[in-house]
Amino acid sequence: MEGKVRTRFAPSPTGFLHIGSLRTALYAYALAKKNNGDYVLRVEDTDQKREVKGAVEALKETLLKFNLKWDEYYVQSERLEKYKEAAEKLVAEGHAFYCECKAKNAKEEGFSAELRDPCRDKKLTSGAIKLKVPEGETLAYFDFVHKKEISWNSETVYDATLLKSDGFPTYHLAVAVDDIDMKISHIIRGHDWLPSTPIHLLVFKYLGGPIPAIGHPTDILSGETGKKLSKRRDSVFVEQFLKDGYLPESLINFILLLGWAPKDNRELFTLEEFVGNFDINGFQEANPKFSIEKLNWFNGYYIRKKSDDELLVLLKPYLPENADFEKVKQIIPLIKDRLIKLSDFSTFAEFFFDYKKPDMKLFGENYKKHLETAFKIIESTEPFDLESLNSKLMVVVKDNNFKTGEFFMDLRIAVAGSKFTPPINESIVILGKEETLKRLREFV
Ligand code: GLU
Repeated sequence: MEGKVRTRFAPSPTGFLHIGSLRTALYAYALAKKNNGDYVLRVEDTDQKREVKGAVEALKETLLKFNLKWDEYYVQSERLEKYKEAAEKLVAEGHAFYCECKAKNAKEEGFSAELRDPCRDKKLTSGAIKLKVPEGETLAYFDFVHKKEISWNSETVYDATLLKSDGFPTYHLAVAVDDIDMKISHIIRGHDWLPSTPIHLLVFKYLGGPIPAIGHPTDILSGETGKKLSKRRDSVFVEQFLKDGYLPESLINFILLLGWAPKDNRELFTLEEFVGNFDINGFQEANPKFSIEKLNWFNGYYIRKKSDDELLVLLKPYLPENADFEKVKQIIPLIKDRLIKLSDFSTFAEFFFDYKKPDMKLFGENYKKHLETAFKIIESTEPFDLESLNSKLMVVVKDNNFKTGEFFMDLRIAVAGSKFTPPINESIVILGKEETLKRLREFV
C-alpha cells in the first residue's frame, strides 16, 4: 500500500458501545497495525442533541478493555473552526450555498423526491451551508469490503446540509474535513453509511481530497430473527456481554469472524494473531449471523485456558457476598469445565454458600435409607478426605445393595439442593463434615 496506512474509529458518543461498533474498531485497528500504520480514535460529537453524558469516557474504557489502543485522539467539537472554514471555502468556490429555510426538513435524513434545495441559486450570504450537488455526474468508489465499484448518478443525491446555522457541522462535512486533515488512508465504517457515501465523495473532491479507500462491513444479523441486530430486540451492548461474564478475548475472537475470514479455516485468534493474519481481502460480503452458541463456545474455550488463579480473580465480581476465597479456590477445578460464562459460577456453586432445601419430590423412593446410611458414614469418616469418603461410600452401597446412581443422586439432592452439581463427593469434602451433616440432618 502506498503511503502510511492510517485508519480511524469514529464513534458518536450517543450511548454504550455496540457490538457492531466494536467490530468496526477492531477491523480499523487491525488494518492499521498490520501495516505498521496508525489507528486514530475520533469522537464525532457534533450532534450535541444526541450526545449522552459520560459516553465518551465509557467508550474509551470499553475499547481499552479489548486492548484497542489508539495512537491519536481527536474530538470534533474542539475543531469547529476547521469545519466552518471548509464550508465557507466551498461556498466561495461555488460548491455550496447558504440556506435560510427554517426547520430542518425531513429530507435531511435521507433521499426524497425533492433533492434540490430552493435556496441553492438565491446567493444568500448567511444561514446554514448546503452542498450544491452537480447535475449529470457519476459518483463512484471501489468498496474494499464488497470488492466492487459502487456508483450513483448525482441526480439521486440531495443537497445535504454541511454546516448548520448554529455553526456545528453535520457528519457529512466533518467526516471529509477530518479524514483529509488526519491523512486517513482507509475508512472502515458501518453499512448504514454506504448511502451517504456519494455526498462524501463530492465533499472530498471539492475540498481537494485525497479520497481514502472505503469499505463498509456488512450488517450483523441476529441469529434468532435473521434481521439486522437491533438495540430493541437483541443484546448488542459490549458492556452487557462483559458483565454477563464473557471474556474480552472471546468477544474479540467471535466478532472478528463476523464479516472477515482467513484463507484457511482457522478459527482461534488472539488480537495479536488477528493483526498478524489480517488481510484486507478477507472481508466477506455475506451478512454474518450472530450465533450465541458460537460465542458461548469461544468463551468456554478461553475460560478453560485460564489458570485457576486467574479465574479466581476474574470470578470475584460473580461470587456470593459471603464467599470464602479458600473455598472458591477448591471449587474452581470442579466447575471449570462446565462454565460457559463467568456468571454461571453461581448456578453451579451457589449451594456451597447458600443452602436451599430441595423439593421433596426430587428424591427417589429409597431416599431415607440412602441418607441415613450416608449420614453415618460421613460422620465416621476420618480423615475427612476424598479418598476415604469415596471408598467408604462405595463399600456401603455394595453392602446394602443400593443402586449406585440412585444413592448418589439422593445424596446430591440433599446436600446441594439440586440434581445438577459438580461431582458430589468432591463437593462434600469442600463443604466440610459439619456443614454436610447439618444439611443431611434435615432428612434423617
Ligand atoms: N460517527 C459515525 C458513527 O457513529 C461514524 C461513521 C464513520 O466512521 O465515518 O457511526
